[in-house]
Amino acid sequence: MSYTLPPLAYAYDALEPVIDAKTVEIHYSKHHQTYCDNLNKTLAQANYAAPECVCELLKDLSKVPEAIRTAVRNHGGGFMNHNLYWKVLGPSKAKGPNEALMEKITQAFGDFEKFKAEFEAAALGQFGSGWAWLIVKQDGSVAVVKTLNQDSPIMKGVVPANIEGFPILLIDVWEHAYYLKYQNRRAEHVKAYWNIVSWDAVNELYEKAAAKN
Ligand code: MN
Repeated sequence: MSYTLPPLAYAYDALEPVIDAKTVEIHYSKHHQTYCDNLNKTLAQANYAAPECVCELLKDLSKVPEAIRTAVRNHGGGFMNHNLYWKVLGPSKAKGPNEALMEKITQAFGDFEKFKAEFEAAALGQFGSGWAWLIVKQDGSVAVVKTLNQDSPIMKGVVPANIEGFPILLIDVWEHAYYLKYQNRRAEHVKAYWNIVSWDAVNELYEKAAAKN
């Protein structure tokens, strides 16, 4: 089998004015598509059977043959991270975390505003390309972490143990995610990002993560 992009659940202009339609179109149909295509090519050339969920491929990269491990980490990470990225954005009935998630956020950060400040600081503090995340850890607590390039907190043994976890919110801080509209003003993009987060999706992911613990 080969991987395909999940369809976008909204139109390219649905994230305006925070992310312009052109950026969404290029980001989804070119960048995300290319990660997917390159992952498929990498696996096909190595004759390596792709598990149904790309997460199975990425959570333990030590099982992937060494010859394709870096390519799978980069292209597979790019494919998986963007699948989640589009999912946590868009129109939402919920305007914030549900009660259970808010309780975890309060325990970890003090209050919601302090959580937002820490998430923004992680996004701004990521030197070069990468991601900032809100994750649920094995013990059920939540944490803000950042990763380089297309690494994900699910990549055990690749990312440091203190940033492993189940992601429920993420922001892409590669320049391709915001450059057309914001150019070098990453901070402005990160602040505006809160207006397009789908808390419906984040809350659902939180419930899934909590059920695993
Ligand atoms: Mn991206």
